[in-house]
This record gives sequence, C-alpha cells and structure tokens, in this order.
Amino acid sequence: MTIHDLTVISAVDGSALPKKPFTGRHLIDGQWRDSLDGATFVRRSPAHGTLVSVSAKGGSEDVEAAVAAARRRFDDGRWPFSSGKKRASLLTRVADLIDRERERIALVETLESGKPISQARAEIEGAADLWRYAAALARTVHGDSHNSLGQDILGFVLKEPVGVVSIITPWNFPFLIVSQKLPFALAAGCTAVIKPSELTPSTTVILGELLLEAGLPDGVVNIVLGYGEPVGAGLTTHADVDMVSFTGSTGVGKSIAASAAATLKKVSLELGGKNPQVVFPDADLDSAIDAIVFGVYFNAGECCNSGSRIIVHKDIAQEVVERVVALSKKVPFGDPLHPETRVGAIISPEHCRKIDGYVKSAASGGAAIHLGGGELAVPGLSGQFYQPTVVSDVTGDMAIAREEVFGPVLSVLTFDTPDEALGLANASSYGLSAGVWSENVHTCLEFARKVKAGTVWTNTWMDGFAELPFGGFRESGQGRELGRYGLEEFLEVKTLQMRLGQSRELWLNSR
Ligand code: NAD
Repeated sequence: MTIHDLTVISAVDGSALPKKPFTGRHLIDGQWRDSLDGATFVRRSPAHGTLVSVSAKGGSEDVEAAVAAARRRFDDGRWPFSSGKKRASLLTRVADLIDRERERIALVETLESGKPISQARAEIEGAADLWRYAAALARTVHGDSHNSLGQDILGFVLKEPVGVVSIITPWNFPFLIVSQKLPFALAAGCTAVIKPSELTPSTTVILGELLLEAGLPDGVVNIVLGYGEPVGAGLTTHADVDMVSFTGSTGVGKSIAASAAATLKKVSLELGGKNPQVVFPDADLDSAIDAIVFGVYFNAGECCNSGSRIIVHKDIAQEVVERVVALSKKVPFGDPLHPETRVGAIISPEHCRKIDGYVKSAASGGAAIHLGGGELAVPGLSGQFYQPTVVSDVTGDMAIAREEVFGPVLSVLTFDTPDEALGLANASSYGLSAGVWSENVHTCLEFARKVKAGTVWTNTWMDGFAELPFGGFRESGQGRELGRYGLEEFLEVKTLQMRLGQSRELWLNSR
C-alpha cells in the first residue's frame, strides 16, 4: 500500500502476537529470582502497543547478590582455570541452542525493539556465529616466553582473565550486542553480570536459559534486569567488579568512565557515531545510492553505524539527492511482523519526538526537506513510526549534522575538493565509522588513511565479520570488540620470571 508516495506495510493479522507476556526474572547464581522487593516493569511493543513483557525490576540488593555470585565463581578458580577446550565446547553448545531457538528469540526481539522480523532472524543467526567464533578463540589463549634473558632465567608473559565483568547493553541490537561481548569474556575465563536495556530485557533472559541448558556452571553468568539507576550504576561502581564492558550512548559512557575511575576498573566503551559517507563524482552511483539508503534506514536509523550524513561532490549532488529520494520511497516501512518490512517502529514516543525535533530545527535553520519530515501513520498499528526523511542544504554547524539523530533521517552536505570532504567528515566529536565511494583506489585509500574512524568502508557500507575488530575513535569509545582484539579486551597480562637453580646474586653477601 502506498501512502503519500511512500511504501507502507499495514498491520498483519495479530496471530503472531503472544497471548501472554514474557516473564523475565534475574538470574543469580544459577537461580531465577524475582526482585527482593517484588518490583516489576513492563515493556509494550513500540509498533503494536501490546504488552510484551513483565520483568523483575532490580535494586541494589539484586546487584549485590549477582556480583557476589560472579566474584565467588571467579575466585574459586574453577571457571578461570578450566581448559580452553572445555570453554570452547560449552560456547559451541550455546551457539547450537541459539540456532534451535532462533524463531522464538527473533519474535521477542522484534516485539520489544520494533525491528523487522527478517532482520531480527538475521541478527540471531549472526549472534550464533559470534558464539562459534569465540569458541574457536577460547583454545588460542596464550602468552609469550623469553629464553634469551640469560642462562639461568626464563621469562613468561601469561594472559589471564580480567575477572568479574559487568556487561551493560543498549536496546537497538540487544541479542547481537550481548553476543559481541559475553562469549569473548567467557572464552577468556571471566565471569559476568549482565544488565540489558530496560526497553529490551527479554532476549537476554532467553540467553540465560540457554546458558543453563548448555551446562554453564552456576554463577559464571548472572543477569540483573532493570534501569541505569540503580542497576547499571551499581554494576559500574562495585568494588568487586574488575571491568565494565558498555555499549550505549556517549553521555552514559562518559559517566561510566568517570564513576569507574574511583576503583580504576578497566572500561571498554562502544558508543555513538555520526558516520559520513563521502561520494566522489566517479563513484558507481547505483551501488552508492543503494548503500546510502540502506545505511540510513537500516534499523530505522537507530544504529551506531547509521550512515546518517552523506558528503557529496557538488557536481553530482542534485542527481544523488533525487535518486536517494526516489529509492527511499520504495523502502517498505511498517509492521515489523510482515516478512517484507525493511523498516519498523521507533523505540519510544519520546525518541520519535527527539528525531522530529532535529528535523524541524534543521528546517528552521535553512535546510531543505526533500522527503518525509514527520511521523508516519501505519494503518492498523498504534505504535510510533517516522517517515524516511532526506534533508539537504545542511551546514556543518547544524545539530542534525553533528549529533546522533538515531532515526531514518539523512543529512546531505556537499564538497568541492577532497580536502574539503575530509574536513567535513572529520568535523565531528565522534569517530566510529566512515565510508568513501570512488572508482579510483587512490582516492579511497587516501581518504581511508586520513579519516578519523575505527572502521572505514570503501565502496560498501556496514559489512561486518566476526574476524574483524570493531570500535570507535574519539568520543565513539575505547577498546575493541570482535576479532582477536575482542578476546584480548578481557585478558590481563601477568609477567612471570623464573630463576633456575641458586643462580641469584645476593644483594648482601652474607652466605
Ligand atoms: P543508553 O546509554 O541510554 O543506555 C545503554 C545502557 O546503559 C542501558 O542498559 C541503560 O539502562 C544503561 N544505563 C543508563 N544509565 C546508566 C548509568 N548511569 N550507569 C550504567 N548504566 C546505565 O543507550 P541506548 O539509548 O540504550 O542505546 C543507544 C546508544 O547506544 C546510541 O548512542 C548508540 O550509538 C549506542 N550504540 C553504540 C554501539 C557501538 O558498538 N558503538 C552499538 C549500539 C548502540
């Protein structure tokens, strides 16, 4: 069905909607528990408005109990000193269980987050792949040895698990992001306490069920459901937590880094992005325009990697905008439960208003709205959606050009020279990812080497592999996930020096 030229998919019949809400409880020391004070919170589907889940609402006592369990299990040594082979086979079992439960996890993910069901299925499949990749890494943990320090001494560099890790995750890719962290932490031999977002708690609870079924010893992974205060804050300040692995907004990331400083915890942060794609006149425009449309609308733009600003050469800017607008109208927005839907609901009404605020403020500052610019009514659905939106005549000083809009909104800026393009690309406090489109490899390479971003894509956008590290420069974060670096994050280095025989020269010669 087409409304105002857009492709909008109306509500499908509600038979897939669960009859009963999902019940989420904390997982502490291998036991499912309600909050000590019995408190709960609910989540409604952002697309359908129906009740999806009722979850235990954690308090400080729940944090205390979960951290104590993770600490005990780490300190008794059985998990950190278990063999890589044992940890690998457990992680592989979890991957198999995730595959088995893919449909169930994908449905709950879609209902809590508003993302399309086809995308949710792909994410759960990708998550299982990460568990398998981490399983392979578990058998590769090793350090170095030095045998050139002298005849009577050997030196070893040991890699040891950091200890108890707090894992705090956002709502936009709940199952995928916990799977970018937890299996790597377990492969290293760490124990963990996880806090999923209060907006999408339930698939992390399902993961907890699968961990128990796979045979993970009690207390190695604990889950506390609830809000940033007091659960998230408690997990980042607790003296018995050795490391915080956080994905979320830059604002909360900075506050976590500050509060974790009191106990000098290791902190790994995956934060926001304002990711540019630069399009040179010699680019393959068919491919670039498809990638621009994918980059901005994927996950309704609620994506750290959203290609939310394009920087286009002036000679082709008009053509690019026209073609992006034309293709945008063909992207199916609507009911996330329909298999053809590519863009679903916005996570909350407040967030929808925030997106709209950025667009309205750009328009009042002189930007041109070529498409969209308002909420989208989807027939039969009571949730919140936002229209595919293309905004040009954006200048570098506008909030829409600098801040994360986190919605299906594309800002178009233009350039004359490669230096100008690079300057615009780097004119952001973020540095997560960037892209460049040109058929000239020298143009691509020069841009790739000078742009300040943790990931650079040339003539593609948002490809991802378990083998390749991911993370941000500048205010997009610190530390890396995935690849071998993703394992190293959870390892501490210990130096061991062994003197052989009685070769040590005495400091005071009193023998
Ligand atoms: P958020 O920062 O609001 O919340 C993230 C998590 O932190 C939630 O679980 C939340 O409950 C918790 N939290 C809130 N306050 C806290 C506190 N004081 N102490 C500890 N924990 C606290 O982020 P969000 O809105 O859930 O997610 C969107 C943000 O995440 C965007 O900025 C996006 O760019 C970023 N993100 C980054 C990546 C990446 O890999 N770089 C991936 C996905 C999302």
